[in-house]
Amino acid sequence: RGATPVPPDARPRLTVLSGPSGVGKSTVVAHMRKAHPEVWLSVSATTRKPRPGERHGVQYFFVDDGEFDKLIANGELLEWAEFAGNRYGTPREAVQDRLAAGEPVLLEIDLQGARQVRESMPDAQLVFLAPPSWEELVRRLTGRGTEPPEVIERRLEAATTELAAEPEFDVTLVNTSVEGVAQELLTLMRVV
Ligand code: 5GP
Repeated sequence: RGATPVPPDARPRLTVLSGPSGVGKSTVVAHMRKAHPEVWLSVSATTRKPRPGERHGVQYFFVDDGEFDKLIANGELLEWAEFAGNRYGTPREAVQDRLAAGEPVLLEIDLQGARQVRESMPDAQLVFLAPPSWEELVRRLTGRGTEPPEVIERRLEAATTELAAEPEFDVTLVNTSVEGVAQELLTLMRVV
């Protein structure tokens, strides 16, 4: 397990960070961006309601069902998926602009989205963030404290299926240390 070596001459490309809900994807990304604010991260659209502290245009573009329907109908999403009762999607244009400018692009999305990106952009590198153990994942999902029990139950169900998808990914990073994983991700993206 671990990061595969990357050829130094390779161009920046699309990196997809995926893995079960609660595994710590957004914590890793937040840590990475603190050290490297120049790394651009796609901001997704979602029909989920904001959690305390989340702001429109920062963590997500919070939209209603009608607006999300429109984004799909107009072909404005690179990929989208329904996850635990809400829809999430990656705005296409911003990603394409960054890639065209030769900048590395990071998407933090769920497994269904990662599969769609693999189909539409075969060059993308797919990174799976795995929990140190199942017990640890349950502990993190339960301990979040911001979600009602039935939502946690749905996310645990989703996580079981998601863990089985690891072999579909190019690289697996085990989330034993936020700092370590953030560093490995930067290396994979050829930022450092
Ligand atoms: P949360 O509600 O916890 O912020 O996110 C739930 C799940 O949706 C996470 O696994 C997250 O990675 C995923 N997600 C966030 N944005 C997108 C997106 O644009 N597309 C897809 N397919 N999944 C996303």
